[in-house]
Amino acid sequence: MQFDVIVVGAGPAGLTAGIRLAEAGWSVAVLDPRVPFEKPCGGGLTPRVWDWLPVDKTAFTTCRDVDRVVLRLDDGHPVEVELPKPLSLLSRQELGAQLLERLTAAGGVFCPYRARDVEDRAGQWHVYAEVANRQMDPIGRWADGQIVKRDSPRPGPPHRPTAELPALTVFRARWLVLADGVYGLSRKRWGHFTAVTDWTRTVGYLIPGTDAAIQIQFWSGWDGYAWVFPRADATSVGLCDTLPGQTGHLFRRLDAWAARLGWDPGSAIQRYGHLIPSPTMAHPWFPLWGDRWVRIGDASGFVDPITREGIFFAVQAGRVLAECILQGTFPSAWATWLEQERWPEWRSAARWRRWFYRPWFLRAMLAATRWRRLYRLLQGVLVGDIPYSKLVEAVL
Ligand SMILES: Cc1cc2nc3c(=O)[nH]c(=O)nc-3n(C[C@H](O)[C@H](O)[C@H](O)COP(=O)(O)OP(=O)(O)OC[C@H]3O[C@@H](n4cnc5c(N)ncnc54)[C@H](O)[C@@H]3O)c2cc1C
Repeated sequence: MQFDVIVVGAGPAGLTAGIRLAEAGWSVAVLDPRVPFEKPCGGGLTPRVWDWLPVDKTAFTTCRDVDRVVLRLDDGHPVEVELPKPLSLLSRQELGAQLLERLTAAGGVFCPYRARDVEDRAGQWHVYAEVANRQMDPIGRWADGQIVKRDSPRPGPPHRPTAELPALTVFRARWLVLADGVYGLSRKRWGHFTAVTDWTRTVGYLIPGTDAAIQIQFWSGWDGYAWVFPRADATSVGLCDTLPGQTGHLFRRLDAWAARLGWDPGSAIQRYGHLIPSPTMAHPWFPLWGDRWVRIGDASGFVDPITREGIFFAVQAGRVLAECILQGTFPSAWATWLEQERWPEWRSAARWRRWFYRPWFLRAMLAATRWRRLYRLLQGVLVGDIPYSKLVEAVL
């Protein structure tokens, strides 16, 4: 159980970093009690993700490319936007399975363990982990509080080693990468956002069937939106909002909206509630890296606070971090990248967010699509081509 690097969490962030390091010949262990699983997520990928993801789009059977988005505020007229490049919608379970396969092919080791504690002993990280227990309690709740309906139509392929695994194990390595999402060890150990406004609450589910367009619904007074993301095999329907509120209330709103669009919420599978970090500040107050350790992805709050897109930022951070470690430039090059690339963009996003969900702003944005220049601008924002820091420049 001795490695060069231990990655805690096999989401897009951890696996992208792990794959790159394993490809460079490092011994890598990736710990995760659950992957591949249908992580609560819209599974929406902006085109740029494919430039960074270490797997090919053609490998996915659940992936659907969609180039039409319908946006609506309250009961107003829908505004249809044709995208210059398609957004891809796919299953997180399949994304996890594809990345795991790539990790194993590169020589990395996947260990179905939950990290329980970690300590730095004489220049070696000791990660204390227990073997995954996939049993749910009687109401279908994982140990971390996430609720998943028991009748999942897509039980994960058994990505488990066949040999008997020890229940408790100590993994040792020089490097530690924490990519364990929002409910992980890094949050308990090193903290995360504490203000309610820095978190987005989501509810959602999958509905059998698919469609040709993405639907986005805004409501006056909501700091978020509802979505219909049609994949090739099913459709992800969900809602996000920063306001503190009861999950039941959010589900009722989502069910009513989905029914109005012609979807049957009664056929929904895998109902979930989950959190997304959506920082209102330029950069987090909690520690993000130290001597031979670093956190990336949701664990560090790398999510677009307006759209709540996180997969791109997780994958990008995994890749950039791996290059810094391989070139021996961590932490200076990592800190520089954050200073020059991430924080300025987050600062702009936090500024725009103050306006974005105001009803007058949304109304003006949708009405402005009648002008060719502003229509193009919205197209660019939707596919991730125009950063928030360049928005004003792009308008002028
Ligand atoms: C409802 C919802 C919809 C979303 N829709 C989109 C979307 O359409 N497009 C988009 O780009 N982003 C979306 N996001 C955001 C996106 O899901 C995340 O930003 C992205 O998954 C972050 O990747 P990650 O690798 O950092 O973390 P995760 O994908 O959360 O992976 C973390 C992993 O760590 C594991 N883990 C946790 N604790 C431990 C432990 N103690 N030991 C070992 N492993 C552990 C977990 O099992 C998990 O597999 C959505 C989020 C939600 C909640």
